[in-house]
Amino acid sequence: MAGLRDTAAAVRQGSTRAADLLEANLAAIAEREAEIHAFNLVLADEARAQAASIDAAVAAGDDPGPLAGLTVALKDNLCTRGIATTCSSKILEGWRPPYDATVVTRLRQAGAIIVGKTNLDEFAMGSSTENSAFGPTRNPLDPSRVPGGSSGGSAAAVAAGFSAFSLGSDTGGSIRQPAALCGVVGVKPTYGYVSRSGLVAFASSLDQIGPFTRTVADAAVVLDVIGGHDPADSTSIPEVHPSLAVALDQGVEGLRVGRITDLPEGADPDVAERLEVAFDALRAAGATIVDVQVPAFTFGLTAYYLIAPAEASSNLARYDGVRYGLRVDAPDTNTMYGATREAGFGDEVKRRIMLGTYALSAGYYDAYYGKALKVRRLIHDDFERAYRNADVLLTPASPSVAFPFGAKGDNPLAMYLCDVYTIPTNLAGHPGMSVPFGTGADGLPVGIQVLAGTLNEPAMFRAAAALERAAGGAGGAS
Ligand code: GLN
Repeated sequence: MAGLRDTAAAVRQGSTRAADLLEANLAAIAEREAEIHAFNLVLADEARAQAASIDAAVAAGDDPGPLAGLTVALKDNLCTRGIATTCSSKILEGWRPPYDATVVTRLRQAGAIIVGKTNLDEFAMGSSTENSAFGPTRNPLDPSRVPGGSSGGSAAAVAAGFSAFSLGSDTGGSIRQPAALCGVVGVKPTYGYVSRSGLVAFASSLDQIGPFTRTVADAAVVLDVIGGHDPADSTSIPEVHPSLAVALDQGVEGLRVGRITDLPEGADPDVAERLEVAFDALRAAGATIVDVQVPAFTFGLTAYYLIAPAEASSNLARYDGVRYGLRVDAPDTNTMYGATREAGFGDEVKRRIMLGTYALSAGYYDAYYGKALKVRRLIHDDFERAYRNADVLLTPASPSVAFPFGAKGDNPLAMYLCDVYTIPTNLAGHPGMSVPFGTGADGLPVGIQVLAGTLNEPAMFRAAAALERAAGGAGGAS
C-alpha cells in the first residue's frame, strides 16, 4: 500500500481520485463497522462532498494541499464545527461545537477528508475503550479482544482500513497503548508540539494530540501538518519544528539508545522478549546501546492518578446541565446539577472526579496533589539526566498484547497498570511513540515504545523507522 505522501501526490496530480479512495474506506466500513464499532458517527455524505470538491479543485488546476484526498478519523473529543462531539459520554448529548479544533482546521486546509468521529473511553479515561457510554470498540485483529484505549476507535479505524490515518489524544498513554494493541504506529508529541485548542480537556497539563498511521513515515507526514505554533493554545511551543520527514532516512548509526535498567517489572514474557530483539535490531543497525537509570519512573503511575484526576475534576466541573449537552430537570438548580451529573457521567468518570476532588480538598492538597507534583518534577529531572547519555530510550508500549473483553473489568487498578510504561513521559512532557515490532502471544502485535527528550522527535523517528525496517516494514510483520 502506498504511503500517505505518495497517495496525496497522486491525488494532487489527478492520477488518483479522492472520491475513489474514500469509497474504498466506506466499503471497508460497510463490511466491518457493525462488528468493530470504531465510530460514534460516520460522516459519509459530508466526506463524499469533501472528496468531490478536492477532485474538482485538482481538475481546475488548484493544489488542495499535502494531505489531498487522504481520509482521517477523528477521536470524538476533538471539536468539529456543527458536528456532534460526544467524548463517548451521555453528558454531551446533543452538543454541537461552534468551532473546529485547530488540528481539524489544519487537516481541512491540507486537503484531508473527515470520515467520522471515533469511539473512546468516556472523556478519554481508560485503557480499553470499554468505558464508552456507547459500547466498546473491538480489536480488528481479534474481535474478542479490546483495541486498547482510550483512543481505541481511532486505532481500530486505521487497523481496519476505515481511514488512511486518524487522530487521538494521549494523556497517559491513550495513543501509544492502543496503537500497540492494534498493530499501528501511534505518536504522542512533545507537550506543546500540537495545539490543544478544541481538544476537550481531560488533564490539561498532560493532554497531547497525535496521529495513528500504518507507517512511521506516514506519522511524520501528519505531524508536519498538525504541528506548529498556535496562538489559541497558550501552552503551544513558539519555535518552528523542523520537518520530521528528513529524519526518516538518516538511519541510527551513532545514535545512543538507552536501556532503563530500573524499569518497573510487569511486562509479559512475550513482550519483554520483543524488547530485547528491538535492542539487538538497533545495535545491528549501528546504534550504541547504553544503560541508564530513571529511578522515579516507577512512581509515575501513583503521581499520575492524583494529578490527572485533580485536573479532570476541575475540567469536568463545567458539565453542569446549563452550558452543554444533557440536562435532567429538577425543581431547583442544585438538584438539577446533581441529577444531570449523576445521569450523564459513567462510573469511571465519577471515580476520577471524586479522587481528584479529594486530592485537591483543603487539608489534603499538600499531602496528595502537592506531593504528586514533586514526584512529577523528580520524574522529569531523572529523564533529563538519562537523556545526557542517551538520545532515545526503548520500553514496551504496553505490558501485554491485546486482552479479552472484561479481563480487567471490575478492577480499576489492573486497568491503570496498562499505562505503566507510557505515563511517566506525559508527566515529563516528553515525546513518545509506539511502533509495531512483530508479534507476541496468540500472534498479536507488540508495540515498542521509543522515548526522547523535549523536541527530540527527529531522533525518536530515526529509531522508530529503523525498528520498522528491522521488523519488515509497515505493520511490523516479522
Ligand atoms: N489510561 C489512562 C487513564 O485512564 C490514560 C488515558 C489517556 O491517555 N487519555 O487515565
